[in-house]
Amino acid sequence: MKLNELSPGEVFSYFEKICSIPHGSGNTGMIADYCLEFAKLHGLKARKDAADNVVIFKAGTSGYEDCEPVILQGHLDMVCEKEPDCDIDMSVQSIKACTDGKMVWADGTTLGADDGIAVAFILAVLASDTIAHPPIQAVLTSDEEIGMLGARDLDTSELTAKRLINIDSESEGILYVAVLVV
Ligand SMILES: [Zn+2]
Repeated sequence: MKLNELSPGEVFSYFEKICSIPHGSGNTGMIADYCLEFAKLHGLKARKDAADNVVIFKAGTSGYEDCEPVILQGHLDMVCEKEPDCDIDMSVQSIKACTDGKMVWADGTTLGADDGIAVAFILAVLASDTIAHPPIQAVLTSDEEIGMLGARDLDTSELTAKRLINIDSESEGILYVAVLVV
């Protein structure tokens, strides 16, 4: 069974693509560039800052244009670990994501669902023309796993949202929400 046969298909299609791009901590240039290309393809404003963080902006959908914007946030990097007999060079090669329809894993390596699935969900929302939403400021940070370096150096100059949904909790179905009170 292929990953993109899982539901929601759009999410797992993006996740499969993310798995094909090496994106260990300290090696996020390619995944950041992929996200920029994604934005260009979908006509969305985006930028990458000096720390390899990518921010993608999408207007609110019909009826929600004037709502308060929301930040959707996940991190681009993953922890790279592998079995002793695995010959994949995770700095330059794709990992082999597999599924039996219930579980998803990688053959011989870590999968990077932390936090690739968040990036996949965010890209699916950005690509969708059927999901109603307020203006979105998608913040995809680099190098979270080695000290939140991307978040530390994030260029926040164009971020105006006061609400942030973080998709990187340790528990299934749990999201962290932050509200900036000023
Ligand atoms: Zn994480």
